[in-house]
Amino acid sequence: MVDQQRNIQVVENHSQRELVEAYLNQVPAEAVIDSARVAELQAQIKALLIEKNAVIIAHYYTDPLIQALAEETGGKVADSLEMARFGNSHSAQTLVVAGVKFMGETAKILTPDKLVLMPTLDATCSLDVGCPADEFAAFCDQHPDRTVVVYANTSAAVKARADWVVTSSIALQVVDYLDSQGEKILWAPDKYLGAYVQKQTGADLLMWDGSCIVHEEFKAKGILNLKKVHPHAAVLVHPESPESVVDIADVVGSTSQLIEAARQLPQQEMIVATDQGIFYKMQQAVPDKTLLVAPTGGSGATCRSCANCPWMGMNSLENLLQCLQQGSNAIEVDSEVSLLAKRSLERMMNFKA
Ligand code: SF4
Repeated sequence: MVDQQRNIQVVENHSQRELVEAYLNQVPAEAVIDSARVAELQAQIKALLIEKNAVIIAHYYTDPLIQALAEETGGKVADSLEMARFGNSHSAQTLVVAGVKFMGETAKILTPDKLVLMPTLDATCSLDVGCPADEFAAFCDQHPDRTVVVYANTSAAVKARADWVVTSSIALQVVDYLDSQGEKILWAPDKYLGAYVQKQTGADLLMWDGSCIVHEEFKAKGILNLKKVHPHAAVLVHPESPESVVDIADVVGSTSQLIEAARQLPQQEMIVATDQGIFYKMQQAVPDKTLLVAPTGGSGATCRSCANCPWMGMNSLENLLQCLQQGSNAIEVDSEVSLLAKRSLERMMNFKA
């Protein structure tokens, strides 16, 4: 499909949606544990972190119990770019990455000498699943004139095929720079983030047809209805959301940028269109402000993932303890793939806007 006016091409691929559905069907229900068990798990994890010279690096979308424990024990709660930077610079020999699989892979690629453990290896991402490396490589081969820019939410093998990796916090700057160099871009996998980047930079993007199942379900109509009840609320939107939602935002940004915006904006109420896990750190940043979850209901919403990433939700204190006790779920990346992926990751890490 080609949008002539906006110079965007999206390559539609229905088999990838089926792939994502198949993965979603395997996500188990989240277990609820009582406070005594929570305290017991926290104590055991703290002891093991010291014993094994390990540190927890957690994404904003994980369980607040994990985020709190990471902070309490000298670890980090961050977006994927900052997670990578922290793991790269920290002295701990073992990194426990609570998030989804590509985050563990990124940590291993950047710090191959460290042991990188994850609470579960089953936590993936619809963007990663929807962009299989072999199909992506074939797509790139068809467009050798384009610079390949991939989002961090991809497998190591897809990163290895790319010229650049970007996160949502740095995508605009990198694409703007490449556009200024006269480069045409092949972008993957998130078509909504790609459309936002294209609109902001005017760059020539050929896009893979991928999406995040969480952000895709936010609805502009629902947000506008909520605004009627809270007319003074600011609307904060992650750019993985559909264009109609991005268009009504007061601020569009990555998770870290949205937390900072909540701090800076004068409004006392915020309607937040991203995974609810972010509320833990956002509320810490603005304890006196009211945070409202952006609605996901309406036509097309399945409510399989209403502002809650099912894969992020697979991380728990129980499986975090288990991976530390057993040294299990260690991330390994093929050395050749790792070297190539590291090159495109380091371009992002070293990029100065
Ligand atoms: S929230 Fe979306 S982009 Fe993030 S891990 Fe889940 S499916 Fe992937």
